[in-house]
Amino acid sequence: MAEAPTVHEIYAVKFGENPGGVRGHYFLGPDGDPQDERMRLDYFVWAIRSPGQDIVLDAGFTAATNRTRHRDHWEDPSAALARIGVDAASVPIVILSHLHYDHCGDLDAFGAATFVLQEDEMAFWTGRFAPRREFSRHIEIADIERVIRLNFAGRVRMVDGLHEVADGVWVDKVAGHTPGMQATYVRTAQGIVVLASDSSHFFENVEQDKPFAVHTDVVGLYRSFDTMKAAATSGLVIAGHDPLITERFPAATGHEGRVFRIA
Ligand SMILES: [Zn+2]
Repeated sequence: MAEAPTVHEIYAVKFGENPGGVRGHYFLGPDGDPQDERMRLDYFVWAIRSPGQDIVLDAGFTAATNRTRHRDHWEDPSAALARIGVDAASVPIVILSHLHYDHCGDLDAFGAATFVLQEDEMAFWTGRFAPRREFSRHIEIADIERVIRLNFAGRVRMVDGLHEVADGVWVDKVAGHTPGMQATYVRTAQGIVVLASDSSHFFENVEQDKPFAVHTDVVGLYRSFDTMKAAATSGLVIAGHDPLITERFPAATGHEGRVFRIA
């Protein structure tokens, strides 16, 4: 008899925020109106849990990196995950949505993990245009070096397009924000939930068709909205940085303000 398909739970684990931004910084052109209105941006890592296995999406950034970034950094992502019993040191799979500094900083904490990354993302950050300021300002060179070393150690699973990471968990290239940006699709009790990461920083991006201000390809961003909505049989495309996460979804008991159960 075939084994039952794995159904996962998803938790958004908050490790910091940036209270100082305005809409004009975050949206393309008139989509940001009113441009000077304050808008908070939250930092999360994501735990995809099933019996006997935790998969983590993204690795945030550490206090060390925050010395130059000056966000409101609460704790390292691995410490935030430990609050709900996710042991970073024994997590087998970490999906890296892309290589911006706030998504791949705490890799050393995941000493047993294989990291899942799109080929096009690695190629871009080791390629000709990576040093151009509009791109380089969003990365830490030390993070890119770390990923290169992990690749030579055999710990990066480099994929191209749609790929099944584990039973009930897929990544898909949805380029636009970066050339190898990937979304994560998770089978849950409510159907497939899409974790957009930076393919939709805020719910407003995907729900109101308003691109974020940082991208390498605006057509790709619009295409990624369509791709993610089509994949989400649950109707849930979860924004990667939206403070509304903390209002739309219930807090995990005992972790109010920090951990939210998405599905
Ligand atoms: Zn990003």
